[in-house]
Formats: sequence, C-alpha cells, structure tokens
Amino acid sequence: MNATSADIETLERLQTVDLELLRTRKELEELPQRAVIAAAQEKRAALQAKMDQIKVLRKETGRKLTRSNEEDASLVKKEHGIQAALEAAQGDYRNVEARTKELAGIEKRRFKLKEELAELKKDQSRIDKLASQISDGIKKLDATEEAATASFEERSGALTASIAALEQERGQLTSEVPARLLEAYDRVLSRAGGVAIGRLADNRCGVCRAPIESGRLIDLRNQAPIGECPICKRLLVIGGPAQA
Ligand SMILES: [Zn+2]
Repeated sequence: MNATSADIETLERLQTVDLELLRTRKELEELPQRAVIAAAQEKRAALQAKMDQIKVLRKETGRKLTRSNEEDASLVKKEHGIQAALEAAQGDYRNVEARTKELAGIEKRRFKLKEELAELKKDQSRIDKLASQISDGIKKLDATEEAATASFEERSGALTASIAALEQERGQLTSEVPARLLEAYDRVLSRAGGVAIGRLADNRCGVCRAPIESGRLIDLRNQAPIGECPICKRLLVIGGPAQA
C-alpha cells in the first residue's frame, strides 16, 4: 500500500490517540465512584425501609401508651367515686364490703397497668434508640454518596474534557491522511479493536508478535511501505523512511 513517511507518521499518531481515547473512555465507564454511589443508595434504601417499619412500631406503641394512660385515669376517677360512696355507706356492712372489693379490683388492674406502662416505655426507648441509630446510618451514607458524587463529577469532568480534546486531535489527524489509508486503518480498527497498525520487526508482526515465514515475508515486503499481517490482518509498516 502506498504511503508517504508523513502519512505513516500521522497514522501512528492516530493510533496513539485512538488507544488513549479507548483507555480514557474505559476509565470514564469504570469510574469506581459509580459502584460506591450505587452501594450507598442501595444501603440507604434498606435503612429507609427499616425506618418506615420503626415509625409504624413507634406509632403503635404510642397508641398503646395513650390507651393505658387513659384507662388508668378513668380508673382513678372511678376510685374517687367509690371512695365517696364508701364514706356515704358507713354502717351498711354489705354495701361497704362490695365497694371495698370493687376498690381492690381496681387497684389490681391499676397495678397491672403500671407494669404494662413501664414495659411500653421501655419499648419506646428501645425504638427511639434504634431510630436514632438508623438515622445516623442514613446520614453517614448521605455523606458517602455526596463525597463520591463530588469526586465522580470532578474525575468524569476531567475525563470528558480529555475525550473531547482527543476527538478533536483525531479529527485533525484524519483530515491529514489520504482517504484510502484512513479507510484501511478504520476498517482494521473496527474489526480488531485497539491496535490497527504496527511495525514489522525481526520478521515478526509488531502487534500479534507472530513470526512471519519467509514466503509470506516476501509478499509482505512487496506491499511496502504498508502491508497487512498475514496472521492478524493488521496494518504493518515495513521498512521505508518512516522506520527509524
Ligand atoms: Zn499480526
């Protein structure tokens, strides 16, 4: 394939730019912050779900507390009523006995209620502690995500700018190469990916490293200054003025 030494130099610069583009795009694609952000979001969603359950539990416990307190208040009122009735019933033995029994029943219930209330208050403080732990966890995840996002934006911004500069450089270089050479280069690049052009050195392809046997070597040298590796089909620079 015909090519001037300037064409070969431009193609090789294009190759360098294309490899750098590939590397930069891959780095952008695989920025580790993406995984950090996704993991933080996933963990936060799990904690948020737990927090929702805790809120339901806290409401339930609060309702139970209110109910028990209300029952106790109504029992106190009842107690006062019975005590007043007891005072009025002095001498009426049966009445006094019945009222006294009633009072004892109320006392028993109030004692039970007191125990229940103490348990509920313990539950409530356990729930509050758990809620505050979860809330701290969520705050930490928020901070992790925020830091990872800031770092991602910074790095991805820099990489995106590099890609734009490389693409511009690629555009400039491709405008300097004859169309048929560029077509051959682009064809190999899209087929092989990464490296499209190498040099013949020590009778080996500089890309796939395969040794080229003498019969094929003669064919290859006939294609100078640019031939095609018989093994990997990449473009090979053969001798000529571009080969230092
Ligand atoms: Zn090869």
